[in-house]
Amino acid sequence: MTDALRSVLVVGGGIAGVQAALDLADQGFHVYLVEKEPSVGGRMIQLQKVFPTLDCPSCIFTPKMVAVANHPLITLLTHAEVREVRREDKIFRVKVLKKPRYVDEGSCVGCGTCEKACPVDVPSEFENGLGMRKAIYIPFAQAVPKVAVVDLENCILCGACERRCPTRAVNFAQVDEQIELEVGAAVLATGFGFFDATRLEQFGGGRYPNVIPALTVDRLLVANSPYGAVVRPSDGKIPRRVAFILCVGSRTRNASLGLPYCSRVCCMYTVRQAQSVILNLRRVRVDVYYMDLRAFGKGYEEFYRRAEAAGVRFRKGRVARITEKPDGNLLLRAEVMGEENGVVEEEYELVVLAPGLRPQADPRVLFPDLAVDEYGFVETVSPKLDPVSTGVPGVFVAGAAEAPKDIVDTVMQAGAAAMRAAAYLTSLNGG
Ligand SMILES: Cc1cc2nc3c(=O)[nH]c(=O)nc-3n(C[C@H](O)[C@H](O)[C@H](O)COP(=O)(O)OP(=O)(O)OC[C@H]3O[C@@H](n4cnc5c(N)ncnc54)[C@H](O)[C@@H]3O)c2cc1C
Ligand code: SF4
Ligand code: SF4
Repeated sequence: MTDALRSVLVVGGGIAGVQAALDLADQGFHVYLVEKEPSVGGRMIQLQKVFPTLDCPSCIFTPKMVAVANHPLITLLTHAEVREVRREDKIFRVKVLKKPRYVDEGSCVGCGTCEKACPVDVPSEFENGLGMRKAIYIPFAQAVPKVAVVDLENCILCGACERRCPTRAVNFAQVDEQIELEVGAAVLATGFGFFDATRLEQFGGGRYPNVIPALTVDRLLVANSPYGAVVRPSDGKIPRRVAFILCVGSRTRNASLGLPYCSRVCCMYTVRQAQSVILNLRRVRVDVYYMDLRAFGKGYEEFYRRAEAAGVRFRKGRVARITEKPDGNLLLRAEVMGEENGVVEEEYELVVLAPGLRPQADPRVLFPDLAVDEYGFVETVSPKLDPVSTGVPGVFVAGAAEAPKDIVDTVMQAGAAAMRAAAYLTSLNGG
């Protein structure tokens, strides 16, 4: 057991948690990084590119993901959940449940032979349901750790993976492992989930296959996409008319239509995706329906102008309804402003929704005294002057768990949370 007062629990292994863990470990603190999924990476690793620099997320993030796995002061616990946190004087006693992978982490070499042997196909979470994975699978090519995991719900226990694994790593006898940790501080980095756009009947209520969420477009745009190009799901056809709709479930005062706040990243990632669709498909018309285009960061306004110059048509207005035609095309009815002023009806082959962001986890399960706002995002003691300290001494927050934000702001907040956690521990140690 490491010295509790020089140890930190980081919950969530997206870019916020990974950055906070590295910043703390580089200062000599021991970090337990707990991620509920089988790999670290969060949402960022699913993206095709990132605005406004158009960096490839795998290129800039994978080295950090590998670094957390190899850092001598970081204990990485994936496929694991924090079950209980109890404060005793200066120390948090933490119980973590490490779920069985049914694959021995020490023996698996990530060769993928088991995946080829497995007869069961399951929609891939990483591909946002587009491509398929096997019942035993490595979540994605750059997964960290690059270790297979068995999805027991879909496994038919045929034993093919066990027989074919060259290192005998498959082990169906694995059971839950309870791990007890002692730390002096914690950083919450549990990220975001999505507003459920299938609630919106006016957009098809989730029944139209060619109305897709924005994250799916990123998976279609990546170089190694399961389809190799931007195609529409119903028939694999390359669309020639694509519409993007912003603020789906964001910025509405009508609770049945969504959430009142701005989700902050949708405008800019839609600008990026719309431009990428034009570059990917060439002969395509791309329309973006927006309320206000919020290009608030350094280089963002220029990024938006470049998309406009590349041919993206920005139409200010509200989409009232989408209707599906028998051929899978979508009739979109909107009220637009500007020169066209009035109600327009347009036909598209693919429609992309940018859903609002909401918290992914309720951190009060672990820290009951923690304050969250009315939407569930973690409150900080001073949003302006101390935007990382929660009201609970020793507990800090970073990334989208605090509020929707882009990667630049997430990385900055993660660095600040690490710094505050380090200062807090130093003060506990009498420094
Ligand atoms: C479609 C789309 C496109 C985007 N494009 C861009 C872009 O181009 N540029 C840009 O700057 N930003 C972009 N963003 C925003 C970017 O994704 C976020 O800024 C970033 O992912 C926030 O990182 P995070 O670590 O806070 O959260 P997340 O990426 O959500 O990571 C949170 C992690 O915590 C884990 N977790 C959650 N709960 C628990 C728990 N209880 N225990 C353990 N682990 C847990 C999750 O599994 C996940 O791995 C985009 C967002 C979307 C939706
Ligand atoms: S479980 Fe075995 S076959 Fe599958 S990736 Fe690991 S080492 Fe390869
Ligand atoms: S035992 Fe399960 S995971 Fe292994 S090959 Fe058979 S179905 Fe796939």
